[in-house]
Amino acid sequence: MKNKSFKLLIYGLSAFFVLFINVALATGHPIINDSSVVSNGFKLRTIVIDAGHGGRATGASGAYSLEKNVTLAIALKLQQAVQKEIKDLNVLMTRTTDVFVNNGLRAVMANDNKANLYISLHCNSLPNVRKVVNGKTVSVPNRSGKGVLLLVNIFRRSGEQVAAIMENQFAEEEKAYSKKEVTALSPEDAITLNFLRDKYRKQSIHLANLVNNEFVNTDGRNSLGVIEQGVQVLAQTSMPSILVETGFINNPEEEDYLNSDQGQNEIVNSIVRAIKQYKREVEQVPQ
Ligand SMILES: [Zn+2]
Repeated sequence: MKNKSFKLLIYGLSAFFVLFINVALATGHPIINDSSVVSNGFKLRTIVIDAGHGGRATGASGAYSLEKNVTLAIALKLQQAVQKEIKDLNVLMTRTTDVFVNNGLRAVMANDNKANLYISLHCNSLPNVRKVVNGKTVSVPNRSGKGVLLLVNIFRRSGEQVAAIMENQFAEEEKAYSKKEVTALSPEDAITLNFLRDKYRKQSIHLANLVNNEFVNTDGRNSLGVIEQGVQVLAQTSMPSILVETGFINNPEEEDYLNSDQGQNEIVNSIVRAIKQYKREVEQVPQ
């Protein structure tokens, strides 16, 4: 008898769970793109290119340039290159001019358009270091940062510092620029996303590695690697998403590279090759 009740309980719970998943998947909100599941019929249709920061949110700065302008220049070149080289891929831009865009709205745009891939472009920088000179504490720029860094969002564990990376510090500051916080994910969507998170995580890491390999092997860039972090900019997108730190804008050599046509073209071409490879793989086209 005890055994029977236990079985009934298990059946009941299973039925509830299946129903729960179906209800969650059928809530009708467009943000969960079920077609992102890798299968034979899958087509990578829509990519979002996100130029980091913009408008009064200038991001990091170098000796003569601002992150928001560098990311926009690279994003526009990447848009052109993808449109030219991957004709069946629809490209959406979070911004094409120097305007402020709330980070939540960027995610809303990607989610509502059922994008299959999200690439956020940024420039890295190191914070100033404090030094004691003649008995006085002074703030000295640290220009020693070098190389690319690929970030993939990991959902925050309790106690993890939000501002552990520079990008999150900027994201926190940028929240103050918006009148209202924009939340892309409803509680139902967040639950549904939980089911897909592992798949998106693996695909994000894979794309990040492909991009990183191109930077290192083709362009000879230094790399700080692919890192999973709490990345606020990516936290609300419901598709495979990566953040590309294209170089350190406060390192004079890298600032020149990031502002040059040659540097921007190298970065763009590497990302395009990685997208092509990723597309072939997720669409399972024989090579
Ligand atoms: Zn940034």
